[in-house]
Amino acid sequence: MFFKNFKYIIRLFFNHMLIENIAITIVKKNIKHMYLRILPPDGEVKLSAPLSASDEDIIRFVKSKKEWILKKQKYILENDIKAPHKYDNGEKHCLWGREYTLQLISNRNVKHAFLKDNTIYLPIPKRSTIEKRKKVLDEFYRKELKAAIPQVLDKCTKIVGRKPKSINVRKMKNWGNCKQDGRITLNLNLAKKDMECLEYVMIHELCHLIEFNHGKNFKKLMDEFCPKWKEIKKRLNE
Ligand SMILES: [Zn+2]
Repeated sequence: MFFKNFKYIIRLFFNHMLIENIAITIVKKNIKHMYLRILPPDGEVKLSAPLSASDEDIIRFVKSKKEWILKKQKYILENDIKAPHKYDNGEKHCLWGREYTLQLISNRNVKHAFLKDNTIYLPIPKRSTIEKRKKVLDEFYRKELKAAIPQVLDKCTKIVGRKPKSINVRKMKNWGNCKQDGRITLNLNLAKKDMECLEYVMIHELCHLIEFNHGKNFKKLMDEFCPKWKEIKKRLNE
């Protein structure tokens, strides 16, 4: 009963308006100030407003932000910004530069995500949160990357002529990192990119064992050991 009422209340405070030819979804909440969000992939405009805000308040606010809204929408559409993942059935996720379909399975005997045909199977309990699903998939990427490293490392150490002290995989901001003592860390998201990207990052980090900065000499080494590095770097950061 409570749930039914709750849904009713939500609907009461949920509204749509067309202001200056911009479609706005308005959600009234117990907040002090109005704020706007422009959402990928199609630039949907969501406005959160205080319970006390009148239609006039909302129209005035949206008009004052019109330029900003249009600029944001243009950016999202022109740059093909994707909506954040929800880790639902049928969603596309990349592995080694190829797209796979996600399939959730609830089977207590399956502990880890696995790949079969064109599908990544994600074992998760029913009604799990997005964070939990992401964690299970991240573990899958970690395992994939760790399995790929030995062969790539072997190839790249032969090219560069240096060996790292250790290699770790973790979530990080950059694609890779190399400490002066020879410890290399790789971003687990490299498992989403194609194998050439992993080789490029590996060569980059190994080159730091010769030249610790990104100066002229470093670039010379990259040109020598990975002639296509500029092109691969661009693809990696797309
Ligand atoms: Zn570097």
